[in-house]
Amino acid sequence: MPRIDRACSAYLIEDERFAFSLDFGTGAFANMRRYADYDRLDAVVISHMHADHFLDLIPLRYALRYGSKRRSNRLPVWMPPGGAGMLRSMTSCFAKEGNGDFLDEAFDLNEFDPAAGLPIAGGRLRFAPTTHYITSFAIRYERNGTSITYSADTAPDARVVELARGTDLFLCEATLLAGEKEHAGIRGHSSAAEAAKMAADAEVGQLVLTHYAQDATSRDLQDGAREIYRGEIIVADDHSVLELNDGSA
Ligand SMILES: [Zn+2]
Ligand SMILES: [Zn+2]
Repeated sequence: MPRIDRACSAYLIEDERFAFSLDFGTGAFANMRRYADYDRLDAVVISHMHADHFLDLIPLRYALRYGSKRRSNRLPVWMPPGGAGMLRSMTSCFAKEGNGDFLDEAFDLNEFDPAAGLPIAGGRLRFAPTTHYITSFAIRYERNGTSITYSADTAPDARVVELARGTDLFLCEATLLAGEKEHAGIRGHSSAAEAAKMAADAEVGQLVLTHYAQDATSRDLQDGAREIYRGEIIVADDHSVLELNDGSA
């Protein structure tokens, strides 16, 4: 949930030529404007249709439609399969107010094909299904041999490990507190220790723990992961900036 001064899931990937976001959860839009405003964003890609991962597309749409900054094209937005229809049904009540084609006049709305991947920003996205309560996809962005892999929301999953194999930066969710059990035993999230196990199995370069519980401290998260994953562990925070060099600079 959004907390004071903190947004839900969104990860901006940018260099001087492009800027795109993996997810766009509640609070993301205001935070992201500091780095890449709505006239400069090249694309948004959504991992799954939980509100903490996509809901700020709605204020983003209003900015694109009514804001003072202009762009020459509609903003490409890539949803998971079924996601475009869900977003359209959610926003149909706004469209009835005479707002025209509520989504299409601001967004170039598409659904990605998880099996096919997606060329983007001089590189490529690949996807892997995760273990979550609804259909969800982990996403790997790769360019010139340098990569970032984002787990989205998932319980421990070999498909996510495979997608993340050898990645330079692994953004992995760590929702569960140590020892916390999920409701009715149905798995959909990971603990910091489980995130660390996936990172170790995938032999990633760096682990970034994210999507953690509001009661989790940075020390709790680090302590839960350190014994299992021996590489560098970073606890994500709003406005964290991490640099990666893909060798082309
Ligand atoms: Zn979720
Ligand atoms: Zn989530």
